[in-house]
Amino acid sequence: MKEIKLPDGRIIRYELTRKPVANINFRIKADGVVRVSASSRVTVGYIERLLAQRADYIFSAAERLSERESRSELNLDRVNWLGKEYPVRIIRSSREVAVLDETEMRVFTIRGDDREYLFELIQRTIADGFATLCAELNGQVRRELSESGLTPPPTRIAIKDMRSRWGSCSYNKGHISINSRLAAYPRETVLSVIWHEYAHYWHHDHSPAFYAFLERHFPEYHKWNDKLKF
Ligand SMILES: [Zn+2]
Repeated sequence: MKEIKLPDGRIIRYELTRKPVANINFRIKADGVVRVSASSRVTVGYIERLLAQRADYIFSAAERLSERESRSELNLDRVNWLGKEYPVRIIRSSREVAVLDETEMRVFTIRGDDREYLFELIQRTIADGFATLCAELNGQVRRELSESGLTPPPTRIAIKDMRSRWGSCSYNKGHISINSRLAAYPRETVLSVIWHEYAHYWHHDHSPAFYAFLERHFPEYHKWNDKLKF
């Protein structure tokens, strides 16, 4: 395996095989390593300049491939929704929809062996349900705040897939983001994150006054928020 160090610090790793191909071919793998085949006429210098020129394409293609790979490793037997685990049942039907009931996630599809597609159908149902839940909890928090005499800025909750935080609040813009991964946690845990972000409208840092505010408005804050793990 060889490496090309780019001026910006990124590293392209590649394996070179000499083959009687017309000029040069390359294939990108999910591990980020580029498999290059080139005829013996093509110099290593030329190959490395070419790969360096296409660095952005190589990195984004490798990222797409590894995302696809992690999806196929996904467990499609069970889904987590609001702190409970539901088995997935695939039912042959052309409705092409996933429906969650009290006991199971039913996926109606004629493409039952297409894992990526099944994952998408399930995710769509979870995402819709989670958006509805967040809108409902948003209304609940706002009602409770105004009943206690406080007026929060108009807030629409944006749901995002975030890597390292459960929520965020741009208090000067009146904008709250909630991590979509919270859909797997209990309803009260989701509520605790929404309360946390609302509290930042009045207390920008995590001071004792911030937690006192939370405990006043949502006394079970710690009980439910402590369930969160990254
Ligand atoms: Zn915070």
